[in-house]
Amino acid sequence: MEANIQNEQEIYELAKQSCTICNSCRYCEGFCAVFPAMESRRDFKYQDIDYLANLCHQCGECFYACQYAPPHEFNVNIPSQFGDIRAITYEKFAFGAKFGKFFNKNGFFASSVLMLCIFVLFLLVFYWNHWNLSRISYKGNFYEVLPYEVMVGVFSVVGILVLGSIAIGFMNFFSSLKEKEKINLICVFQGIFDALSLKYLGGYHHEGCTYSQNSRSNTRKYFHHFAFYGFLFCFVATCLGGFYDHFLHQSAPYAFLSAPKLFGTFGGIFLCIGTLGLFVLKLKMDKRLKSLKSMGMDYAFIFSLFIVSLSGLCLMLLRKNDGAMVFLVLFHLSAVLALFLIMPYGKFIHGFYRIAALIKYALETKKS
Ligand code: SF4
Ligand code: SF4
Repeated sequence: MEANIQNEQEIYELAKQSCTICNSCRYCEGFCAVFPAMESRRDFKYQDIDYLANLCHQCGECFYACQYAPPHEFNVNIPSQFGDIRAITYEKFAFGAKFGKFFNKNGFFASSVLMLCIFVLFLLVFYWNHWNLSRISYKGNFYEVLPYEVMVGVFSVVGILVLGSIAIGFMNFFSSLKEKEKINLICVFQGIFDALSLKYLGGYHHEGCTYSQNSRSNTRKYFHHFAFYGFLFCFVATCLGGFYDHFLHQSAPYAFLSAPKLFGTFGGIFLCIGTLGLFVLKLKMDKRLKSLKSMGMDYAFIFSLFIVSLSGLCLMLLRKNDGAMVFLVLFHLSAVLALFLIMPYGKFIHGFYRIAALIKYALETKKS
């Protein structure tokens, strides 16, 4: 525990030192929102570092432009140092910070074990309800595999807990920024818009991330959009499914051209493309820009999203095959539930912290 605290202090001190050097240099001031926000400060408290780190998209442009980047003794490496700080903020402000620490340390392993445990539990519930498999024909009905009450009960409870945890994490982080000005609705919308459009991922000339000194590309931005809007479409498809079932009394499976199916299909395809692309880009990323502290959780989150989207698509294609459907329903639901449970403690939360940081940035910009 002591070593860990010391380690976090060292990370903060290193980031503070880099910010102080950047404030004297100011070469990168047009690159993104980080540098103007940095320049409006004389010194840096830990909450300033948290704020600046969550403005950074880790695009790498400032690293390749920097004359003080490693191997220079000043060791200015904003993308990597801020990546470490972001990982600390995900732990520090999370509801149940101990879970945050645990997931961040064991990201990939923890989420895989969690998914496997849930799968085994669902499998037990399934066998409890189906002693004689050969007599049953499921006709593509998920509720024949896992009872409606179990599905709705488990996902409602977990959904409420996860939403509550995310809201608490967001409020903890936002209030730590200690914004003195009154909240201004225009700035709130500006922050949300800038986060959703990934405004600052484009770099100085909106040419995207820097993959090496001479190569710039917006690919990461496109894959990120695919992943985000794919996730949103899947969420809308689930809500529409619930609406059709409860209010229109129409049960799944739905026709291909129905709204839940269209949102689900396109959402799943977008999510697969986005997560696969982001995974490959992360593997190809310059090692010097990587944050070792957040790497496990980043891979775990991208991989979980990919598994959820792929198993969802397979389920849609194979739901008429009873054997495949049983396995895929249980596997897909386990993957979704495991993903939900890690959401408040890992990479998923970065979207909310980014929004909080960009709202603060919009408020500061308006003030100045
Ligand atoms: S990252 Fe390097 S080049 Fe850019 S402002 Fe900081 S010290 Fe200057
Ligand atoms: S967004 Fe890019 S240019 Fe801005 S601080 Fe982060 S890595 Fe540097």
